[in-house]
Amino acid sequence: MIAEIIAVGTELLMGQIANTNAQFLSRRLNDLGISVYYHSVVGDNPKRLEDSLKIALERANLIITTGGLGPTQDDITKETIASALGLKLVLHEETHKNIRCFFERRNRKMQKNNEKQAYLPENGILIPNNQGTAPGCIVETDNKIIVMLPGPPKELIPMFEETVFPYFSKKTGQIIGSRLLKVFGIGESEMEMRIADILESQTNPTIAPYVQDGEIVIRVTARCHDEAEAEKMIMPVIEKIKARLGDLIYAYNGENMEEVVVELLKQKGVSLSVAESCTGGMLSARIINVPGASDIFERGYITYSNYAKIEELGVSKDTLKKYGAVSSQTAVEMVEGLVKKTGTRAGISITGIAGPGGGTEEKPVGLVFIALYIDGKVECREFNLMGDRHRIRNVASLNALNMLRKKLIELQ
Ligand code: ATP
Ligand code: MG
Repeated sequence: MIAEIIAVGTELLMGQIANTNAQFLSRRLNDLGISVYYHSVVGDNPKRLEDSLKIALERANLIITTGGLGPTQDDITKETIASALGLKLVLHEETHKNIRCFFERRNRKMQKNNEKQAYLPENGILIPNNQGTAPGCIVETDNKIIVMLPGPPKELIPMFEETVFPYFSKKTGQIIGSRLLKVFGIGESEMEMRIADILESQTNPTIAPYVQDGEIVIRVTARCHDEAEAEKMIMPVIEKIKARLGDLIYAYNGENMEEVVVELLKQKGVSLSVAESCTGGMLSARIINVPGASDIFERGYITYSNYAKIEELGVSKDTLKKYGAVSSQTAVEMVEGLVKKTGTRAGISITGIAGPGGGTEEKPVGLVFIALYIDGKVECREFNLMGDRHRIRNVASLNALNMLRKKLIELQ
């Protein structure tokens, strides 16, 4: 298979940004044994994009475009490619719904022009985008495959790793064995620094780190003949990474944080109850999403108002007045009141400011306190999280689970 990458964007031609997407895609296609013969770059101009596409179709059988899938007037990739190939654009209901939810979650109004992102070329294969609104798509025509991905690397990379890479590994017929490690509690760049030499020296298996929903994922992929050989090649690499990152790695087979925690709670025979303020049930929902959670989960409270914290959890009025609802003192009283009521061996409380309003200089948006109770001991941690309301709530609930995970590992 011969591939060409077409990066779309006037910003690239103006030298305002570097074409790191082409670099990333070339590296990963190479890992798949697909030869990349050409990179081209074209501005946000339908005529010139169509010309580039025609040239690419003559000299390659796989074409990957990046950029120009957004909602604005100058985002023309999908429309131009569909018209050049004579394909209709059809509304994709599920994508339409997802885009609506994306805006609802962020308390923003969906604009008319966002609707165009829900259209896909007929018979196109959807590439879901969990980080933004623009999905990508794969179009298969006679002997040609065209893959369209959005411009922002934080969207393009997970979409490639989750959907496009597996799609091609199936196509090329080679056995691709892969393992998904998940890391939490360290920044992406620090994590990369710690394993930089391993990353650089590895060619097969390859190691691809990226960020997905606030979590760092490391995919280790071996190209080989059968599953057993893949496992043999992958294990030593995982051992090397483990020696550097230790228990920052919480999953070795792509499990979610909540799956890992529920499993640990079961293994150690520990029951759990939670009291949530800013996460509003997100933590409980995560836990209850795991089948069999009823073995360990006792109950969850959403104590959003001060009154609820007083009435349900026995937080003292004075504490709330003196330190505020978002404080370590309140978090600790919440968890103490919680376990007093529920009698579980473990308890978690979360209180914070999810924004966008409500922050002050002293207590900015993203300030979150999480208290963890286990067998009579309470530990409270302060977090300063970044991002929009949804992300802050999401990362807060992940941090709560991670605190519990670390304690459970130590527990005999
Ligand atoms: P959006 O919905 O964000 O508009 P899009 O698919 O329309 O996504 P573009 O508008 O083309 O993408 O680019 C959006 C941003 O993505 C750019 O401002 C730039 O930061 C980044 N980007 C685009 N193309 C590349 C590239 N080839 N390499 C690296 N970054 C890129
Ligand atoms: Mg755009």
